Amino acid sequence: MVSSSVLGFPRMGGNRELKKATEAYWGGKSSVESLVETGKTLRAAHWKIQKDAGAGTIASNDFSFYDHVLDHIQLFNAVPERYRKYGLPAIDEFFAMGRGLQRPATETGPAVDVPALEMVKWFDSNYHYVRPTLQDNQTFSLAADPKPVREFNEAKALGITTRPVLVGPVSFLHLGKPDRGQSVLPITLLDKLLPVYVELLKQLKAAGAETVQIDEPVLVLDLPKETKAAFKPAYDLFAAQGDAIPKITLATYFGDIVHNIEILNDVKSVAAVHVDLVRNPEQLETVAGALAPGQVLSAGVVDGRNIWKTNYQKAIATVEKAVQLLGADRVVVATSSSLLHTPHTLASEKKLPAEVADWFSFASEKAVEVVVIAKAVTEGAESVRAELDANAASMNSRATSARTNDPAVKERQAKVTPEMYNRLAPFETRISGQQAHLNLPLFPTTTIGSFPQTKEIRVARQKFTKGDITTEEYERFIEKEIELVVKEQEALDLDVLVHGEPERNDMVQYFGERLTGYVFTTFGWVQSYGSRCVRPPIVVGDISRPLPMTVKESKYAASITKKAMKGMLTGPITCLRWSFPRDDVHQSVQAEQLALALRDEVIDLEAAGIHVIQVDEPALREGLPLRSGKEREAYLDWAVKAFRLATTGVQNNTQIHSHFCYSEFQDFFHAIAALDADVLSIENSKSDAKLLRVFEDEAYPRHIGPGVYDIHSPRVPSEQEIVDRVEEMLKWLKPEQLWINPDCGLKTRQWPETRAALDNMIKATKQFRAKY
Ligand code: GLN
Ligand code: ZN
Repeated sequence: MVSSSVLGFPRMGGNRELKKATEAYWGGKSSVESLVETGKTLRAAHWKIQKDAGAGTIASNDFSFYDHVLDHIQLFNAVPERYRKYGLPAIDEFFAMGRGLQRPATETGPAVDVPALEMVKWFDSNYHYVRPTLQDNQTFSLAADPKPVREFNEAKALGITTRPVLVGPVSFLHLGKPDRGQSVLPITLLDKLLPVYVELLKQLKAAGAETVQIDEPVLVLDLPKETKAAFKPAYDLFAAQGDAIPKITLATYFGDIVHNIEILNDVKSVAAVHVDLVRNPEQLETVAGALAPGQVLSAGVVDGRNIWKTNYQKAIATVEKAVQLLGADRVVVATSSSLLHTPHTLASEKKLPAEVADWFSFASEKAVEVVVIAKAVTEGAESVRAELDANAASMNSRATSARTNDPAVKERQAKVTPEMYNRLAPFETRISGQQAHLNLPLFPTTTIGSFPQTKEIRVARQKFTKGDITTEEYERFIEKEIELVVKEQEALDLDVLVHGEPERNDMVQYFGERLTGYVFTTFGWVQSYGSRCVRPPIVVGDISRPLPMTVKESKYAASITKKAMKGMLTGPITCLRWSFPRDDVHQSVQAEQLALALRDEVIDLEAAGIHVIQVDEPALREGLPLRSGKEREAYLDWAVKAFRLATTGVQNNTQIHSHFCYSEFQDFFHAIAALDADVLSIENSKSDAKLLRVFEDEAYPRHIGPGVYDIHSPRVPSEQEIVDRVEEMLKWLKPEQLWINPDCGLKTRQWPETRAALDNMIKATKQFRAKY
């Protein structure tokens, strides 16, 4: 018999109850007891959804108050001393690591002031995990009342026997890093860490857990030999425990493991291996062939990273192939990864067009899908005939809908010519015309686009959305905001101004709402980090731009100043990456459609007299395939092409800017250079200025504005700090190529600190102009 399994469920709750509860607790508005109670209620509700769906295997310990990797840091007592020394209650120590803690001394405790641990993107998703930060003399021990055991017991008390999920020892260490001033290679700590796993696994078994899911997602990466070699001792030690520990399902996701297939020899003792067959269906045969006799394949055929209904026919075919290779008793139908990356339930969406809603499946619906597929394979298609027919009808509706297929868009794509990827003249020619035209001083100053999104702006937007104010009233309000921002920038004496983006709710949603091919959910929240959730728009069909999207605001802003006004757009890759993309056409096709829509916008902006246009691509890097090689090259090829298609339709005198919020692009520098943007602004204030060295080494000719101060904090940098920073930059960049700007947009800041920081930035710049 083929059974079914869900690797993990989203934590937030259908109404983001977890977000509300944690934020209330952080704000001192609720007690720890009430927070703990919310967690318990949510876990029970989520297990029940999966149980009611009929899922064969349901995960526990997938829940977390902040992040599951952070849970393990505390579980293994791998908490750095700078947190532990305060002797905080466990939950407060946990949050201190996740988000930092600053509070004055109280009667019962000393003052606390610790920044958060580093947070990094979880593989290629938009979820962020807290990075294990390890010491040269690191020790590990099992925390009292271990969370995985506690939550297993909690489910058991509800009559549900779960499969606890743990981050595996190799992945935990590989994803970690040495603490500041330490030099330990984390994976060398394996011997110290393994006994803690053994102890934990024994406790789980004693509590009644027959199976555990051990996640080793690092298996999809290119691994150094030290990490590869760590699997054998780890899983040999687990094998040596025999029946004293639960049976192990070793789970991988977000990629294939074919390049690491020999490692399956080192984990022969695990009962099952899980692979992602949504992302990499072609790995099925290789993996099946490499399994040990009797080892089970957990076949991830229901997408844990996207919101589309599973195509039953295709998924069943994949599972049947696995059954042919291994036999029914050795195959489990599973989600491709945890469902953490999908929204809670489609049932809450009342505003989606019915046609479109029928194409989606969120976490609660996906829990049903694994069950239906398993049943179809085990008992035959007739046992789930109604489900299969309905699914086939949904697939057909989506494939043939006018929403998904716009012949005009396809026609336009077919007509893209090679010249459309190139500016009319090379940079060297363009820049002199731009200089003459824009008449900018040495070290031009600018900002990244947004200015403080004040309470008044949010209130006005809400009123407008609710219909409490008219379109004219709202537009007049936005004009007044733009005027204010322009006046502020003139007073500060900035060189290239922006309109401040007051009309934008979000840098992707704003464009999505103005393009055909996109739909939006009401409750489709997905955890990004901690309590922060995003609600990605969904690309359902061919994308086009019926009308200009930003011209009115930029044109108005330009009309009220003599200074250069910069138009502001979100680039094609970022629009795609921060949405749920289609899974029925390649992402490169969607990127090209977005690029063509943005190309029209760029050309319209130019025609409206805007001669500096910034196309933001902060998500370009996160789209990089996890492994180097052909796949990565292919991505960079189409991503660069999309950017160029969007931006090269202008005259030589129009200056194209782009912006990235990261400074690590040394490993794909050639792609950054290939964008051919006249000016790049990049994150740099929190990074080592040495990262800029690559521009010198590669003799990068174009202009660059490395951020001179961090906008994520209300702290105002001094003039001297900025001078020092710019000095550093001038070690690697030529004065005539350097722009002066903050790290990123200012939307999350307040006005007083924004004004003060920019004022210091301008003063610092003027010192350099006097010198050069
Ligand atoms: N132009 C955007 C802003 O200033 C860029 C935001 C980003 O890079 N994430 O808000
Ligand atoms: Zn940014």
